[in-house]
Amino acid sequence: MALRLVKPGAHRPAPERAVIDAAAGVAAGTAAEAAADAVVEPQDVDVDGRSQRAYIGLGANLGDPMAQLCNAVVAIGRLPGTCVAAVSSVYRSAPVGYLDQPDFLNAVAALDTRLSPQALLDALLAIEQDGGRTRAFRNAPRLIDLDLLLYGERVVDEEHLTVPHPRMSGRAFVLLPLAELDPACVVPGAGPLSTLAEGVSGQAIECIGPLVAD
Ligand code: AMP
Repeated sequence: MALRLVKPGAHRPAPERAVIDAAAGVAAGTAAEAAADAVVEPQDVDVDGRSQRAYIGLGANLGDPMAQLCNAVVAIGRLPGTCVAAVSSVYRSAPVGYLDQPDFLNAVAALDTRLSPQALLDALLAIEQDGGRTRAFRNAPRLIDLDLLLYGERVVDEEHLTVPHPRMSGRAFVLLPLAELDPACVVPGAGPLSTLAEGVSGQAIECIGPLVAD
């Protein structure tokens, strides 16, 4: 299927809360709140101690990508001290780097979390592993890919963790779904999302609708 270029701002509005709950398989005010209230191990709590708004990029292009995105959102919503505040529409995007592979489905989730950036990344890597993710080679096809895009306005530059995610500013499949959730977002060190989105306007990407479980 040919990809249609979607201009920044021309995508669908963010899905309603009910869609998030359907994707997470939980009723509002039950499992998600219980997870957010669950005790966070002291070493995993962010230094601020406060809840932070973080954005996670999700991608999949093997197996049943829509189901895997849903499963990942469910798993993220069950992390201690964490709740999923919003999920973008799902976008179909052409592969980057290694081109001989299926198109990707991508979305972005907004979280409120008390986990530190490193604890959150570790949890995301564990969810990837539970989802069957392997790392054959750079830009290989994958069952599920989770990236920590933003963590409040924090800049992290550590050996195994860079925030903002180092490649997010050049990727339409990150910027367009993120713009649904936070159009006024300013990426620390890179600039306003609206300006960054202009720079990726030539990338093939198509909004295919809300994240829905079968
Ligand atoms: P990837 O193969 O793209 O999923 O890369 C995963 C690796 O990138 C992990 O081992 C992380 O340590 C590292 N990494 C560094 N910064 C980030 C980030 N912001 N989000 C996700 N992975 C990151």
